[in-house]
Amino acid sequence: MYEVQYDVAAMIVTFSVAVHFFYKKTVNTRMTFVLTALIYLSLASSVFDLITVYTIEHTKEVPVWLNYALNEIYLLMFNAITPVYYMYVIYLNKKTSRMPLHDRLQILIPYAVDTGLILSTPFTHCVFYLDGQRAYRYGNGMAVLYAVSLLYIWASFVRTVQSAKLLHKGQRIISYCYTLACMVAVVMQMVTDRLLIVQFAIAIAVLLIYLSLENPEDYANKLVGAYNDHAFVEMLSMHMRKRRKFTVIGIRIHGLKYITETLGVTSWNQLLKQIAEFLQQTCGKKRVFYLSGSQFAVITASTASANAVIKKIQKRFLTPFQAEDAGISLSVPMCMLSYPDNVKNVDDVLDAIEYFNVAANIGASAGVVYANEETLKNVGRDFQIIQILRRAVAHKQFDVWYQPIYSVEKKRFTSAEALVRLSDEEYGVISPEEFIPLAEKNGMILEIGMYVFREVCSFIKTHQIWEYGIETIDVNLSVVQCMQEKLYETLLAIMDEYGLDYHYISLEITETAAIVSRETLEQNMHQLTSRGMRFFLDDYGTGFSNTATIIEYPFHTIKMDKTIVWSAMENTKAMHALKYSMAMIKAMQMNVIAEGVETQEQADLLETMGCDFFQGYLYSKPVNGADFLRTLGKSLVYA
Ligand code: C2E
Ligand code: CA
Ligand code: CA
Repeated sequence: MYEVQYDVAAMIVTFSVAVHFFYKKTVNTRMTFVLTALIYLSLASSVFDLITVYTIEHTKEVPVWLNYALNEIYLLMFNAITPVYYMYVIYLNKKTSRMPLHDRLQILIPYAVDTGLILSTPFTHCVFYLDGQRAYRYGNGMAVLYAVSLLYIWASFVRTVQSAKLLHKGQRIISYCYTLACMVAVVMQMVTDRLLIVQFAIAIAVLLIYLSLENPEDYANKLVGAYNDHAFVEMLSMHMRKRRKFTVIGIRIHGLKYITETLGVTSWNQLLKQIAEFLQQTCGKKRVFYLSGSQFAVITASTASANAVIKKIQKRFLTPFQAEDAGISLSVPMCMLSYPDNVKNVDDVLDAIEYFNVAANIGASAGVVYANEETLKNVGRDFQIIQILRRAVAHKQFDVWYQPIYSVEKKRFTSAEALVRLSDEEYGVISPEEFIPLAEKNGMILEIGMYVFREVCSFIKTHQIWEYGIETIDVNLSVVQCMQEKLYETLLAIMDEYGLDYHYISLEITETAAIVSRETLEQNMHQLTSRGMRFFLDDYGTGFSNTATIIEYPFHTIKMDKTIVWSAMENTKAMHALKYSMAMIKAMQMNVIAEGVETQEQADLLETMGCDFFQGYLYSKPVNGADFLRTLGKSLVYA
């Protein structure tokens, strides 16, 4: 008699997994396809195992051909389980690339041998046969089937070990347990063929794999009720593997950020849910992905369908969404890109979406950015620089350089401007003109600004730079920093930390900062000037150069931008502008620094106009701290 209790248990377990899987089923990736095959194969083979146990025990009542047929079906299914698991392990390790031919052959050839043996059995009695008494007997071929199974299990184990680094700990443990369990079970079955334990071992293994290796919930964001970024990446790579054209719409919901601040997190979730539902109704559940924050993505089949979807989305967002009984108007900047026209791989898609979203964030426009050569040109470089910035911020990899400023009156350097430097192994030195605007868009400028400020404090203190005749170091403040209400507290605290007198640092701000952050800036300026710090207006002569700005704010010094200094040499109109601006500023009792002084001719002209300070390559380029001190040493000797 066979002991079927384990088989029954196996059936119940795999059946439960199958039902659960059926209802939870998520994105159709290659992995889920193989897992589906594994689950259904295990279920079917445990059912057929039970059936054949019956037919084997009742051979007399069952027609011989039927007995053979059922046993063969069972064996074909049962022996397919280990190769399918092997396939699963291979996929697990290589998520995106196509499976190479030798892997395919490894999966197929041993199973082809099994199939040949099983199918020829009615004629050769190779694997099993019914003897004269119609009793079920094993043939020699059965040993081959066992050997092949062990081979697959062993191969799966080796693959897992080889690529252990790619799997997380849970996955590794499960893989090892699975291998061990299957080996023990196969060996036990070989020894005591009355105890049908293999099916149970497989059922448990499938359950474990289902629970830990391939958890469908990994692909969904429960709060929002949509597929998540993992699913998005899977879908993209699947389409790309199949060389299937598609168009992605990147959607950023603008205005949500303020919801958390005013209405709380619950409302934020409610809104995201509503938006997800709307997108799912419009495009189909399987096409909508919630990436993170306030970003969604939709995958459509063509640009035409993408355009249709975009129209519907824009129309929907004309009417407010509901949260906490309040109607909330949101805007939706979107971007659209197509494979293979605009993007070549998954990373391209993610980079482009992130880049366009950042761009949309600045513009806060509700328009659509279409990926084309023009718009994509900057994606690569800007995105790379943002990554470099992230790293540099995390590891504090910025340098602060100093450009000495020459005093006409004292005929030596009396101050210097601190200028931040970023260098990267691959990109070389990246100009602040390029990375500061990116850092401002990403909010990283706050950390960079604080880092520079600290470096300057530490530099002043360590080298006691007043000993070198330096009265103050000028630090640039970004517009974003000027918008910080507590900026003054932070700066004062840092200077206190270094035990530094406040007048050793002056702050340079641009006119934009004054326009964008009026009251906050006024407050900050008031707090800091009352303690002896000085404010300089940077880049005067570019932008608006609004006289009201210099009247209204307590600037100590105005910095003439290098462009106006240069054009004064070439063009009389500009010369007059410079001359009279300078006279006006002097009359208002403020100092003037001229930037970009490159020739003696410029210096002479500026001196006749009454300029107080010169900064430019004629005197020194920005240099690192050590070189700066060296330059100062010499300058003191000559003075
Ligand atoms: P900026 O504040 O106008 O700084 C002066 C820029 O003019 C510096 O460029 C300096 O190297 C350059 N310069 C000075 N003299 C000459 C000259 O004679 N000829 C020429 N051709 N150029 C000269 P840099 O260092 O590339 O900085 C560019 C901009 O980046 C700065 O313009 C400033 O707006 C920003 N920046 C630099 N460091 C910081 C920082 O720590 N924080 C913030 N927020 N912005 C910074
Ligand atoms: Ca400056
Ligand atoms: Ca400037």
